[in-house]
Amino acid sequence: MTDDTPTPRTGPVLGVFAHPDDAEIAAGGTLAKWCAAGREVHLLVLTNGDRGSGDPARDRAELAATRLVETQAAGEVLGLASEQVMGIPDGELENTQVVREAVIRRIREVRAETVLSVDPTAWFFENRYYNHTDHRRAGEIALDAAFPGAGNPHFFPEHLGEGLDVREIHDIWLGWTNEPNHAEDVSGWFERKLAALAEHASQLAEGIRFFEEFLTEEAVAAGKKIGVEHAEEFRVLDLS
Ligand SMILES: [Zn+2]
Repeated sequence: MTDDTPTPRTGPVLGVFAHPDDAEIAAGGTLAKWCAAGREVHLLVLTNGDRGSGDPARDRAELAATRLVETQAAGEVLGLASEQVMGIPDGELENTQVVREAVIRRIREVRAETVLSVDPTAWFFENRYYNHTDHRRAGEIALDAAFPGAGNPHFFPEHLGEGLDVREIHDIWLGWTNEPNHAEDVSGWFERKLAALAEHASQLAEGIRFFEEFLTEEAVAAGKKIGVEHAEEFRVLDLS
C-alpha cells in the first residue's frame, strides 16, 4: 500500500454518512482521534435509520427517534462538535439537488476543511457482502457536495446572501473502500470507537460481540500494514 496521506490538517471536519451508526463503524477511531487533537468534527447523517430493524412490529417513527438519541450519545463519546440527522427514510437516499444543498450548506456552515464519507465505488466486499444503496449514495453526495458544490458561488448562491461563504475542501477521506491508500493509526482510540458504537443499542440486539470481533479483526489487519496495533483504512484524496 502506498501512503498518499495529505499534509495533516487541523481545521473543521464534516462527516457525511447514510445511517446513524455508519460513522462509528467506518471511522470511529479516526474521528475520536481528531476530536482529541482539537479538530472540530461535525457529523451529518443523511437518513433517519428508520428501517434498521428486522422486527415487523417495530414502529419506524419511534425507531428514528431512538436512533437520533443514540447518535447524539455516540457523538458525545467521540467528542464531536455536532451531530445532525436528516429525515430521509432509511433505504430511500437519492443524490438529489435537495440533499446536495443540505450537505453544501453544512460544509459552508461549519467551514469544513476535510470531508469524511464512504467510497461510492465500492459495490462488493469479497464475495460476502455488497454495499447498501444508501452507503453508495452517501459517498456520491459527499463527493458532489465537496466538488464542484461547496467551493463554487454559483451553487446555491442564496447561501452567500445568508452570510455563508464558499468553502474549498482540502481533503476527502473515504472509508469502506476496496482501494485504500492510507491507514490511520487509531491505537489507543479503538476502545472509544467501540464505546461510541455501543451507544447504538437499537442496532445491537444480539450484543456488540459481532462488531467487536469483526472490527477488531479489521483494525488489527489494517494496523499490521503500518506496524501499529489498530488502524482504519481510507481512500484519501488530496484536493489542495
Ligand atoms: Zn449503514
